[in-house]
Amino acid sequence: MVKRAACILLILFILGATSLIMAQKRKIIVDLIVRGGTVVTMDGERRVIENGGVAIKGGRIVAVGSTSEIDRYYAARDIVNATGKVVIPGLINGHTHVPMTLFRGLADDMDLQEWLTKYIFPAEAKNVTEDFVRVGTRLGLAEMIRSGTTTYCDMYYFEDAIADETFKAGMRGVLGETVIDFPVADNKTNAEAMAYVERFVKKWQGNALVVPAIAPHAPYTVSEEHLKALRALSDRTGAPLVTHISETKREVDDSIKAKGTSPVDYLNRIGFLNNRVIAAHVVWPTEAEIGLLKKLGVGIVHNPQSNMKLASGVAPVPEMLKQDLPVGLGTDGAASNNDLNLWEEMDTAAKLHKLFSNDPKVVSAEEAFEMATLRGARALHLEKEIGSIEKGKRADLAVVDLDDLNQTPFYNIYSDLVYAAKAGDVRTVIIEGRVIMRDRRLLTLNEETIKADARRYRERIIRSLGAKTVPEE
Ligand SMILES: [Zn+2]
Repeated sequence: MVKRAACILLILFILGATSLIMAQKRKIIVDLIVRGGTVVTMDGERRVIENGGVAIKGGRIVAVGSTSEIDRYYAARDIVNATGKVVIPGLINGHTHVPMTLFRGLADDMDLQEWLTKYIFPAEAKNVTEDFVRVGTRLGLAEMIRSGTTTYCDMYYFEDAIADETFKAGMRGVLGETVIDFPVADNKTNAEAMAYVERFVKKWQGNALVVPAIAPHAPYTVSEEHLKALRALSDRTGAPLVTHISETKREVDDSIKAKGTSPVDYLNRIGFLNNRVIAAHVVWPTEAEIGLLKKLGVGIVHNPQSNMKLASGVAPVPEMLKQDLPVGLGTDGAASNNDLNLWEEMDTAAKLHKLFSNDPKVVSAEEAFEMATLRGARALHLEKEIGSIEKGKRADLAVVDLDDLNQTPFYNIYSDLVYAAKAGDVRTVIIEGRVIMRDRRLLTLNEETIKADARRYRERIIRSLGAKTVPEE
């Protein structure tokens, strides 16, 4: 009798196990499933899915839905449990100079021209080498990943080394080699710079993580002839053009004096602007110029904290949003911010424009969050690939805590994300379907080594600027 019961139990067990295996077999096997969290999709309907899940395969999102839907159709070897947390599209830092992390706090509390000519340009001339750039990049990458940034747009020297470090860390970047009309660390002449840029673009084009770009510093530091040559190179290769435009009132006044017109109008007249241009700042455009930038499809990156710190002015972001311009958010280099924290930029953008326009309705929390995600992707001309959690897009996500003290109690998701959440609330970061940070532990970068290397450079930089090495204006 006992034997018979045992036999029946064994048969039932085998049947159960077989049906489980069959059910598993019917499921599509993917690389990674993020499940159980509140998924803020930023898709066309702005869906926020409670207890949602995301299935990821081959670096792309293959399905987004409720956790039960995802569990029914998909199985994965690796699971990220996001229960009680929020799953957001990875944040996009639209403008930075990542190795400048090593100049963080070197010179503060002065205007752009004094800061640049007295401190930054001399410090760069004495210290920037390929090794400096690699060390500063690793520091910036670690800081960005720990705060949920999955894509950044950069412009600096030795950008090939920056691309290499970015790729090794598993981070996504639109990376522009800077071209400027004076000798710099990596290139001494314009001919050298042109050759470098062309080589750099060809080497990285087609890479899954790195979009190589061409970065003329600004219309006041690069001649018309060189700007036209760089635009032609962009036409030939399809590479984006990253630059600074209309950052300060002085830049606009100087441009009117020297060229008879504003920076935006000048760049348009020489045929530089198009829908591959990514323009940082654009603090001082006229109303007509906002319309022109929209018509041409120029991507714009607003850097509220850098603009505030250097007292550069307040960009007309509410007007740009009203006209639906592709405007994202950036930190600018860490020397003028002094961190690479997009959470602060979202919060600051929302508040700065309310104060400046005396209207608390402008730049809502949802709009600020959109600027750091989908609209930021539009600013980088990458909206088909990133910026939202949608089937077919690249799998760039961040899992963020929702129950920290500063988030309690919880009422509204966008309000929480923009006004209450902090960078330290980011727990897990996924880029191109790969977990880059898990439960706040970086998996591709070593924080202790990075900090030790940066401190070593601090000593060197202080020595290099010692005595009377800083030129007087
Ligand atoms: Zn900049």
